[in-house]
Amino acid sequence: MDDCIFCQIVDGEIPSRTVYEDDTVLAFLDANPLARGHTLVIPKAHHERVGEMPSDVAAAVFAAVNDLTPAVEAAVDAPGTTVAFNNGEAAGQEVPHAHCHIVPRFESDGGRPIHSLFGDRPDLSDAELDDVEAAIEAERD
Ligand code: AMP
Ligand code: ZN
Repeated sequence: MDDCIFCQIVDGEIPSRTVYEDDTVLAFLDANPLARGHTLVIPKAHHERVGEMPSDVAAAVFAAVNDLTPAVEAAVDAPGTTVAFNNGEAAGQEVPHAHCHIVPRFESDGGRPIHSLFGDRPDLSDAELDDVEAAIEAERD
């Protein structure tokens, strides 16, 4: 994708602070970090969203996230991390090339858990939960 900023990083057209690379995955420091050590992990091939990566690519991305998360924590002496994808514009994804954020977290950093992103929670009945459960299962068939 010529106009994709992360594809341009993969192609070496835009510099990045690369912390990990293999044939399938690239990980680099976020240019506008939310915390010291904020790292992005991306598939090298252009896939816009979670669910659009072939499963071998998704597996490689998650394996890199799994390896890098403790390394990032140790590098900046963080006792925790928020590990997340903004997936789709509605979720705040600005760069349309799938990327996992590894954001170091510190006691009293002022950040909150993912749950705090949401306001009023839906009050779902057991029947509604049954419907959702069945619908997700059906979509995967
Ligand atoms: P998102 O809102 O999930 O799409 O996040 C995109 C992230 O990409 C943001 O945290 C940006 O700071 C980061 N970003 C944008 N351009 C660059 C770049 N050239 N190098 C490193 N990180 C970038
Ligand atoms: Zn791309």
